[in-house]
Amino acid sequence: MRTDIVIVGAGPAGIFTALEMLRKGSKKKIVIVEKGRSVENRRCPKHKTQKCVNCKPYCHITTGFSGAGAFSDGKLSLSYEVGGDLPQLIGEDLAQETIEYADKIYLEFGADEKIEGIGSGEAVKEIRKRAIKAGLKLVDCPIRHMGTEKAQGIYLAIEKYLLENGVEILFEYECETPIIERGECKGVRIRKADGSDEREILASHTVIATGRRGADWLEKTCEKYGVEHAASTVDIGVRVEVRNEIMETVNKALYESKLVGYPLPFKNKVRTFCQNPGGFVSQENYDDNLAVVNGHSYKELKTDNTNLSILCSHNFSYPFNQPIAYAKKIGELTNMLGEGRILVQRFGDILSGKRTWQEELTRSNIRPTLKDAVAGDITAAMPYRTMVNIINFINAVDLVVPGFAAAETLLYSPELKFYSNRIKMDADFNTNVKGLHCLGDSSGWTRGLMMASVMGVLMGRKLV
Ligand SMILES: Cc1cc2nc3c(=O)[nH]c(=O)nc-3n(C[C@H](O)[C@H](O)[C@H](O)COP(=O)(O)OP(=O)(O)OC[C@H]3O[C@@H](n4cnc5c(N)ncnc54)[C@H](O)[C@@H]3O)c2cc1C
Repeated sequence: MRTDIVIVGAGPAGIFTALEMLRKGSKKKIVIVEKGRSVENRRCPKHKTQKCVNCKPYCHITTGFSGAGAFSDGKLSLSYEVGGDLPQLIGEDLAQETIEYADKIYLEFGADEKIEGIGSGEAVKEIRKRAIKAGLKLVDCPIRHMGTEKAQGIYLAIEKYLLENGVEILFEYECETPIIERGECKGVRIRKADGSDEREILASHTVIATGRRGADWLEKTCEKYGVEHAASTVDIGVRVEVRNEIMETVNKALYESKLVGYPLPFKNKVRTFCQNPGGFVSQENYDDNLAVVNGHSYKELKTDNTNLSILCSHNFSYPFNQPIAYAKKIGELTNMLGEGRILVQRFGDILSGKRTWQEELTRSNIRPTLKDAVAGDITAAMPYRTMVNIINFINAVDLVVPGFAAAETLLYSPELKFYSNRIKMDADFNTNVKGLHCLGDSSGWTRGLMMASVMGVLMGRKLV
């Protein structure tokens, strides 16, 4: 099979590449290879089974058209300061300009006009004052909230647009490997998920955008073919859940509080991420059965709780420099303690040095929204340094949001963000292998829907 452009992965990075090429009038032939299904055929069976059944051959939450975006909370961060390090590669001005451009595309496809988190009123001033006192930085970030159910509709409209305009999407095909010969990428080798077909797609340009789940695969591929890359950061943390009453002021004023701190004694970067007012804590499963916690919220269906993650950045240099492997070991250990399920523990129990028992969860004001999480002891698997960072950060956030460090506050584990393996590229997204470009979360340069979309837009323009 021959094409001009082959894109591996139909997440925001991959689909915005194709979308921008069409919008710029390109007549080049574009093929997208996607391991999962079309957006309308993606189904997480959990609403029927009530618990994660670890779908094989892949998890429908993270795999399929629109990638991890379809079932995500759909929060589009509209500031270049949030969503990854892409601005370091392309410049802050271009990043911000392209965010505004990509945001207009989301609006065209049906995103809500309302922008959250831009209040500059007394409530925000008070939150910032408290943050300063607590030694935390409050990052300003306007947010457009699509909501999980609306995000699916928006991505469905984009999928239809791509198909109607001649983009070929090969669903349920997995890229086994890029075809790299003498320093040049000639295309990709793919196979159907059920093993019924295998083929090569030859292309002048190959764009790899396999997302967080594909980061590990891409790292191995880079090692094998000498694609230049550097180990970067991995984030390890917990998902925190409290009652809405606790977060009310922040939820109303900002929707999402982006707080960053460097707590003593280690002074590592610790931050809040992905806040979901009235949201649900969720589970996602990686191909190797690793179960990790996440969170999202619907536009209409609301719970009594707010969840957000607290993440600690981990960097390694010498003699060990495999952050993904490190984070996975922590995840596996935590999964082992929960018999494959997500562990949940009350903050008060962590401070008192005891595990949480299932029946104790019913004694609190808060009820876990992740129903199949199992009560236990997350400290038995969390490294000392990370745990201390999390505890001290929660205590600091308590000064901004009184009640955040309450005994009943729930901590779910493991929350892992694999951004590792930063691919070395120039500002035009050229790797050292001719014709090979790496985008989105798997490239290590982005960490969110908007920044991944921005990288796609810019890639699309270069390819035109
Ligand atoms: C539950 C959840 C909630 C989230 N909430 C938010 C949020 O509110 N706001 C935000 O900004 N971000 C959020 N995120 C993160 C966001 O979804 C990602 O940052 C974003 O989707 C990254 O885009 P991407 O295109 O780089 O990769 P992805 O969206 O991960 O897409 C990669 C695609 O590649 C496919 N793929 C992987 N390997 C192969 C292969 N070998 N062959 C073929 N196809 C392959 C996958 O199936 C997938 O569809 C959330 C993530 C999750 C899981």
